[in-house]
Amino acid sequence: MFPDAFEKVAAALQRLPGVGAKTAQRYVFSLMQMGDEVKDVAESIAALAKLHRCPHCGFLTDEELCSFCKDKDRDPTRIMVVAYDQDVAAIEKTNGYKGLYHVLNGVISSAKGIYPEELNMDTLFDRLDGVHEVIIATPFTMDGEMTALYLDRLLKDKEVEVTRLAHGLPMGASLDYADEFTLLQALDHRRSLEEEK
Ligand SMILES: [Zn+2]
Repeated sequence: MFPDAFEKVAAALQRLPGVGAKTAQRYVFSLMQMGDEVKDVAESIAALAKLHRCPHCGFLTDEELCSFCKDKDRDPTRIMVVAYDQDVAAIEKTNGYKGLYHVLNGVISSAKGIYPEELNMDTLFDRLDGVHEVIIATPFTMDGEMTALYLDRLLKDKEVEVTRLAHGLPMGASLDYADEFTLLQALDHRRSLEEEK
């Protein structure tokens, strides 16, 4: 019904979560109202294709290493393991953590058939030289807890202290949704996983 260019963008937008045919059409009309600026939007979207994952930690970057791995002011003796890039943003907002990160890019899930091999896990074990503490900050969901236990088991025979964010966060909560104060509390009260055994 609409011209090809319109239908193409509408179809692309419908691939986004929660965007149906009607919403997609509305978005295309809004984009068209931008006039020439829509070209800038298109360019910014195209630039996303150049992003890749940092070979050290798995966080997104458009350079060789990500902004954290490059930063000499970060404490290289601490690594916080998170499930998603958004979790890094949530922790950074608290201003309470100055160590490095490791982004798994998911969690182990038997229900969804996601196994450790599919996550960015192996590279974590290549990074442990000189590291004193690994803070496991996977979500407080069944899958997140399972991932934490799995990592803890693998880290057990390494010369490193393994801690987990405290349960100030509600069960089922993703880091992304917690407010900064709650996250900071969870970080301050992180506990050694040894204590639980
Ligand atoms: Zn990195």
